Amino acid sequence: MLSRIGPEDHLKKHGIKTVVHSPGVGSNLEALGAIVKLLRYLLSKRSLFSPIMPYGASDLDISKPEDVPDIQTKLIPVSGIDGPSEATSGVCTFMVCLHRPKSVGSVRLASADSCERPNVHLNFFDMPEDIQVLREGIKLKLLLVERIKAQGYPITDLYLPVSDTDEDIDAYIRKQGRTTFHYACTCRMAPLEEDEVVDDELMVWGVDGLRVADTCVFPGIIAGHMMGLPV
Ligand SMILES: Cc1cc2nc3c(=O)[nH]c(=O)nc-3n(C[C@H](O)[C@H](O)[C@H](O)COP(=O)(O)OP(=O)(O)OC[C@H]3O[C@@H](n4cnc5c(N)ncnc54)[C@H](O)[C@@H]3O)c2cc1C
Repeated sequence: MLSRIGPEDHLKKHGIKTVVHSPGVGSNLEALGAIVKLLRYLLSKRSLFSPIMPYGASDLDISKPEDVPDIQTKLIPVSGIDGPSEATSGVCTFMVCLHRPKSVGSVRLASADSCERPNVHLNFFDMPEDIQVLREGIKLKLLLVERIKAQGYPITDLYLPVSDTDEDIDAYIRKQGRTTFHYACTCRMAPLEEDEVVDDELMVWGVDGLRVADTCVFPGIIAGHMMGLPV
């Protein structure tokens, strides 16, 4: 937008003369959000997950659109809480990541000063469907943890929903929801008629010799880790 390509009204507001009016620039921000569940565990010689992870499952064909996963669950060996946590050591975090978010955010200029941070509106949880998917993910995680405890692993919960009712899980999601730093789609590749920004060779519509090659050109966010594609 500082290059004078973007939504004309918005650029004008910041005293920037528009070269190409491209309404899609900075819109359609898709971002992967996550909910964390923090646990404290004691070191054990046994693998924490080997008895229960369904690595052998082969009945999902992800070439079928209906089988593309909408959540990812992962375990990280540190606190995933944003900000200080009461736990400092011996903790791990179960993360439930929303992989096909319906909520869409935006990026807008705060001013015409290139040193000023833009206004990024992630707009997480705007669409009720996103909460619904995360709620199911949290329920799965709660079940996994119960099963791990039942195997005798010494785990203590640190942060989890007050109860397993939908209301308490939803409140927990809104409180603990955070970004996973995976952002895409703010200069989408699509036909010009759809107000999008780059063509199928990633050249900016209406500008000669300008190509964009990063995750902002994704037509939609991918259901997975994103680093591989721009690399
Ligand atoms: C903390 C963190 C953890 C992450 N973990 C993972 C992970 O585990 N797995 C995974 O797949 N992804 C992960 N990601 C996401 C991943 O890093 C991004 O999806 C990926 O880097 C996006 O690539 P990109 O090329 O679109 O943008 P970037 O990697 O951000 O590259 C943009 C480049 O453009 C440069 N630039 C910006 N403005 C200008 C300008 N005006 N002129 C010239 N150059 C400019 C920047 O300096 C930067 O080098 C993580 C991100 C973060 C922040």
